[in-house]
Amino acid sequence: MNLYHLYQITLISIFIAGLFTFVSLLFINAPYGRHYRVGWGLSIPNQWGWILMESPAVLVFLWVYLSGDYRAEFIPLCLLALWQIHYCHRTFIFPFRLRSRKKRMPLIIALIAFLFNAANGFINAYWISHLSHYTRSNELSLLIGIAIFFLGFYVNYRSDRILFSLRKDGESGYQIPQGFLYRWIVSPNYFGEILEWVGFAIASSSPAAWVFAFYTAANLVPRALSHLRWYKTQFSDFPTNRKALIPFLF
Ligand code: NDP
Repeated sequence: MNLYHLYQITLISIFIAGLFTFVSLLFINAPYGRHYRVGWGLSIPNQWGWILMESPAVLVFLWVYLSGDYRAEFIPLCLLALWQIHYCHRTFIFPFRLRSRKKRMPLIIALIAFLFNAANGFINAYWISHLSHYTRSNELSLLIGIAIFFLGFYVNYRSDRILFSLRKDGESGYQIPQGFLYRWIVSPNYFGEILEWVGFAIASSSPAAWVFAFYTAANLVPRALSHLRWYKTQFSDFPTNRKALIPFLF
């Protein structure tokens, strides 16, 4: 099997995994964060879980990218920068912004995410620096995609910051978040994350990036719905107008 066949098989597998993830998460809450529970085998500290599971997205992407013929071209370099801005933050900064350092996550969740990030980093980098041949006609979609990506990054970062501010260092309880997009939805961080990857898909015009945007939504839409149900059971004064992910609609 050559690398191109591996790319095709991985792309289709991630798409199928997205369908499977979406359906299963409608019935089972992924067991980390507020939905963490025993019965999922060995567990590791939450902070190390994040570093472990996100690191292949930085490293595999970079390794595959640097071996491609188009690695020194302008559009691939822009896409490399977008990817690494997100994943260097998620891997090496975000885990140190978490307040509840004593929390744990099941090792199996970190390992599944590790494999997913390796596979996803591979297909995205492979498309950008090995397969695609970007020309000037791609520049408009690049610009539009970059704008959407950074809007999503801002929404995600600011929403997470509001959540972190609800706890002092070492605390692990929950409060009702207020302000910014929390006025209308419970998971603006997920909304921002989905926006980022849709922006990246537009910027790269890449099947791999569209499959990743689809996977991200398949993963985060059911989790936002679980969060909404969870808030309603935990807080009797939870605002009734607040939706899961899309203001006024959903
Ligand atoms: P959550 O919104 O569940 O939690 C984010 C952080 O805020 C956690 O540390 C959580 O603590 C804390 N927190 C959440 N709600 C409250 C509250 N009401 N009061 C006090 N603290 C709170 O997000 P996730 O942990 O699921 O995801 C974290 C980041 O990773 C997000 O930016 C998300 O977009 C991204 N992500 C991306 C995925 C993708 O497919 N691309 C998949 C999953 C996440 P605790 O952990 O104790 O609950």
